[in-house]
Amino acid sequence: MKKKNNNYPDSEIRSVSFDETDSSYYDDDSDFENRIVAPEYNPEDAETDNPLRPRTLDAYIGQETVKQNLSVYISAALARHETLDHCLLYGPPGLGKTTLAGIIAHEMGVGLRITSGPAIERPGDLAALLSSLNPGDVLFIDEIHRLSRTVEEILYPAMEDFAIDIMTGKGQGAMSYHLPLPKFTLVGATTRAGQLSAPLRDRFGVVLRLELYTPEQLADIVERSAGILGIAIDREGALELASRSRGTPRIANRLLRRVRDFAQVIGDGVITCDVARMALDRQEIDELGLDKIDRLLLSGIIQFYGGGPVGLETIAAAIGEEAVTIEDVYEPYLMQIGFLARTPRGRCVTDAAYAHLGLTPPSQAGGQQSLFN
Ligand code: ADP
Repeated sequence: MKKKNNNYPDSEIRSVSFDETDSSYYDDDSDFENRIVAPEYNPEDAETDNPLRPRTLDAYIGQETVKQNLSVYISAALARHETLDHCLLYGPPGLGKTTLAGIIAHEMGVGLRITSGPAIERPGDLAALLSSLNPGDVLFIDEIHRLSRTVEEILYPAMEDFAIDIMTGKGQGAMSYHLPLPKFTLVGATTRAGQLSAPLRDRFGVVLRLELYTPEQLADIVERSAGILGIAIDREGALELASRSRGTPRIANRLLRRVRDFAQVIGDGVITCDVARMALDRQEIDELGLDKIDRLLLSGIIQFYGGGPVGLETIAAAIGEEAVTIEDVYEPYLMQIGFLARTPRGRCVTDAAYAHLGLTPPSQAGGQQSLFN
């Protein structure tokens, strides 16, 4: 799965070489790279990611609690002429963590640097990055849970005391230098808050959790994006796209781009409910935003394992995908909508999923296998 590189305009960000240092990590020949409903960044998102990113808290739709809290912290920091406390943002991919980091920098009137945990390979990389920050800058580290332990150890004093100790040489010739840093705000983002080490987590003064968006909020985002991109869409069309976007703005914006072409060719250029429905049906994205692979996963568990419980590795082997991809990319949404349950003995498909696939759950079929009823 490809990951974003710097999506901000040059004037706003002086980026570390995110994609160059990190390409091997993100390169992945998986079939799933072009999956329309994947929440992760896809290179085709680049076309719209930049112009569509809200730049102010007011333009950022939804996440009301996060916005209210951030607005208080930002106003207080500005009033005291201080940098904002270090912030940890966590939640699934595509919900607006990078966007929020940009908003924080914009609202604080400071510069923004973007990098990611896996891109910072050695302590020296982090030291060079930190010492080149301007006073007040926001440093955004995506996937911060993937920082190595040695890099993390440099980060602790940097976050706490705005200084790092650098060792040079070895043995008796070893020297230690104390290097003061400009004050900065670290904004860390993670999809897996549980994997963050306790000492790192404790050093964030502000911890904000992003939630999946409601269809109404996503419809607002779709209408805003359509306005910026000059695409005609009515409210029903926006709601239809929203309800198939798995609670995720990145997917909503991607579906908007896909459906735009259909509206031009089969409609009169306006995305209505009918146009959206037809376009997404043709791409095999159903009314809940499930695609072929989601359905394959669910029907595979039903067909081969009687609906579960079945272990993650076994499912992975059965559908030919990596266990970690299933866990990070497919399962969260299927669990969120109550189609898949995680039990101590393995994954189970729920009655609701059977119903969605047009099948009779074993509980209602006298325990019989019911895939082809
Ligand atoms: P993450 O960093 O969590 O993976 P991003 O910040 O890259 O997500 O957001 C993905 C896309 O979704 C961006 O292009 C942005 O335009 C859009 N987006 C995210 N959150 C919002 C929001 N609250 N309002 C409007 N657009 C949003």
